[in-house]
This record gives sequence, C-alpha cells and structure tokens, in this order.
Amino acid sequence: MTTHALVRGSPTDLRVPPVSADEDNPFDAMTARLDRAAARLELDPGIYQILRHPERQITVAVPVRMDSGAIEVFTGHRVVHNTARGPGKGGIRFDPRVSLDEVSALAAWMTWKCAVVDVPFGGAKGGVLCDPFSMSPGELERLTRRYTSAIIDGLGPDSDVPAPDVNTNEQTMAWIMDTYSMHVGHAVPAVVTGKPLAIGGSLGRREATGRGCMIVTREALAHLGMSVKAATVAVQGFGNVGSAAARQLSRAGARVIAIGDKTGALYNPRGIDVDEAVAWVRRHGTLEGYVKGTTLTNDELLTLEVDVLVPAALENVITTKNAPNIRAKIICEGANGPTTAAADPIVEDNGVFVIPDILANAGGVTVSYFEWVQNRAGYAWTENVVNARLEETMVRSFREVLELSRSRRVSMRTAAYMLAMSRVAAVHELRGVYA
Ligand code: NAD
Repeated sequence: MTTHALVRGSPTDLRVPPVSADEDNPFDAMTARLDRAAARLELDPGIYQILRHPERQITVAVPVRMDSGAIEVFTGHRVVHNTARGPGKGGIRFDPRVSLDEVSALAAWMTWKCAVVDVPFGGAKGGVLCDPFSMSPGELERLTRRYTSAIIDGLGPDSDVPAPDVNTNEQTMAWIMDTYSMHVGHAVPAVVTGKPLAIGGSLGRREATGRGCMIVTREALAHLGMSVKAATVAVQGFGNVGSAAARQLSRAGARVIAIGDKTGALYNPRGIDVDEAVAWVRRHGTLEGYVKGTTLTNDELLTLEVDVLVPAALENVITTKNAPNIRAKIICEGANGPTTAAADPIVEDNGVFVIPDILANAGGVTVSYFEWVQNRAGYAWTENVVNARLEETMVRSFREVLELSRSRRVSMRTAAYMLAMSRVAAVHELRGVYA
C-alpha cells in the first residue's frame, strides 16, 4: 500500500486552526488533530472534505423486555467513518455517556488507526446508552441481539466488523455473531472479532492491545536512550488494556510503581506485583481493597514522576488543567483520546514524548485483523505466530511514524495523522469518486 504518496507539503503550509471552546468534545478533538495534520499535507480539498465526514451514522431504538416484564427502549448508534481501504472496523461500547459525537470521533480514530498500522480496514464504532452494571446477563443478551438486528443491514465481514470496547466483551461478540449468523442462515465468524476462541477467536487477542503498548513503549525508550529494564511506569485504568499493558511492561523488566482504576489508585515505589493485582481484579471486579501500597487519587497518579505514563481508561484525562503538571518522560496512550487537543501543545512544549493513541493502542485492531484473516482462511495460527506478526507490525509502524516526525519536524501525533491521512487519501485518489 502507498505510504507517503501525498506527504508533500512544507512547514510553511501550517495553518493550525483554533481548538474548540469545548475541550471535552471528542469529535472536535479528533478534527482539531486532523486539521493540524492536514495543514502539513497538500491534500486535494475535496478529498480532505471526504476524510472529515463519516460515511454513515445510524441511530436506532432498541426495545428490550426487562426481567421485570416491563419494556425499556434504549438508544444505539453505529457510525461508519470510512471504508475506502476495507470494511469498517471498530468496537461497540455499552455506557450511559455514549453520544453520537463520541461514537463518530471513535469511528474516525479507527480509520486513522487502521491506516497507521496499514491493515486493510476502514473505521467504525458503535455504542448503546445503557448502564450495563445494573442489567442482568439476560437483559444484556436481549439488548445486544436487538441492537445487532437494528444495524444488521450494514454489518458483514466485507462491510462492517464490530469488536469489544468499554463494557462489552467476548460474550457480547458471541451474541452478535450468533444473531447475524441466524439471519443469514449459516455461521459467519468473521462478522466480529474479539470472539471466544471456541467460535473463531484468535490466540493472543485478549492481551494484544496491552502487548502493543509495551512494544511501542520499548521502542520509544530505546529512541530516548533508555532501557525498559530500568523504567518506572504508572498505569491509569486496570481493565483489558491497562492490566495487559502493566503485565507486559513488567514482564519486559519495567517497574510498575502505580496503577489505578475507577475506584482509586495505588503507589508502591518498590514495584507493584502486577500478576497479583490482576488476580485480585479477576476475583473482586476492581482494585478496591487491594492495599499493597499508598493510596493516590487518579490525578496524583497522572502527575507522578515516572519514565512512562500509560493512560488506559477514558477520554479527556489529560487536559489544560493538569497537563502542565505531567512529569512523565513518555506518555503511551493506551486509551482512545486520553489527551485533549488543547492539552497537546502543553505536553509537547514540556518535552514529553507522546506515543499517540492511534499508534499506541493499535495492537488490538492489528490482532483483530489477524483474527478476521484466520476466520476467512479457516485456519488458526499459533500464539507465537500471532505475537511475532504483532511485534513486526508495531515496530514497523512506530518507526514509520518516528521517521516522519523527524523528517517533517512535527510531533509524533501529527506525524501519525499525516501518515494515516496520506494513506487513506491515496486510496480515494486512486479509486476516484463514484458518480
Ligand atoms: P475496560 O472496561 O476493560 O477497562 C477500563 C478501566 O478503566 C477499568 O479498570 C476502569 O475501572 C477504569 N476506569 C473507568 N473510569 C475511570 C476513572 N474515572 N478513573 C480511572 N480509571 C477509570 O476497557 P478497555 O477495553 O481496557 O478500554 C480502555 C480504553 O482503551 C478505552 O478508551 C478503549 O476505547 C481503549 N481501547 C481498548 C482496546 C481493547 O482492545 N480493549 C483497544 C484499543 C483502545
């Protein structure tokens, strides 16, 4: 696939637009970064307009018979941002804070993420406004199946392939796969990724995002002349991404000195036993009650003096308010959108090396792509093969972004957007506009 085909602007092209007054709006945050990168590229203005617009936004009503016998109607969204390079790809989240703006931003981030690691997918995202923690497994299954049937016309291995995201998991993917398969009349494992192994999930998928975070962090440390062996790490969020990133970094020899989740944070300068903390969360659901260190607030965790900070929980945790106090040398963005666009220049001016989300957490979609390939080939790879190919993809992608960042003298984030936009734009130029 073409890489730098359209990267031909010069620094004099820079026209950085103002950042939205609403620092927390994720769609504004995404377009602000897009605009910054576009200002460095000589994109055809028409193609740039295509890249700024989601291809399809669907909002659906999802009626569910609750255990009480009453019917409740939930709202769901599915946004396909761009399918020029391949089927839309992106997770589904169940959360009361889901909004069309957020889902649209997350869908666009998926387009850029897939392009950064050069997997042949576009970007999509979905969400249902609900509080999954107050719902029974039966209610969640009915919600998932009804939402799937409401968006089913757009789904398919060649058109739109969901995956788990916040508060959805392998079981949710199994229900989606079954609902879709019942509609078409035969088993279609490739319609979702992040499935249980028994129905076509991939070895290595569960740890893939965290493993990818470890790989790019190791590369960033080496670039800065540091070693992962002596590095200190703080991780915010101890779910799928945060716990796997902490575990992988700890296995690589780093000292994880702080971890946190929605119940609070924990600090131990001698190093936290990550496997023990993971086992605690598996038994108890959260870190609450795990008292092997000093307690911290989440904001204190974010501003600790560490070599590596991994925000792996939510959007908008590094803002103009706390960015001046960040003392980490490297930020590896495990979560999507943890830094606001307005905070970007503060962090950069302080000399923090940021591995942007669309690169840092791309290990998950990379192994999702491997899962889709295995499903379509009807042939399962060993975990070693999956991990070796993930390693190759993450190292190559990190080096491509770093190289562009150095040659164009832009931040890693702007370089990642430039690389991604140039790849998607090149495909639009070649395919042309269907009339
Ligand atoms: P998860 O639900 O498994 O874990 C989220 C973690 O964040 C939990 O430990 C939770 O307690 C914590 N958290 C929630 N609110 C918090 C708060 N206010 N302060 C501190 N911690 C808080 O979700 P996940 O799958 O690990 O996803 C986390 C982030 O990574 C999201 O932004 C998601 O979009 C992104 N992401 C996930 C994947 C993946 O493969 N799961 C891939 C790429 C990006």
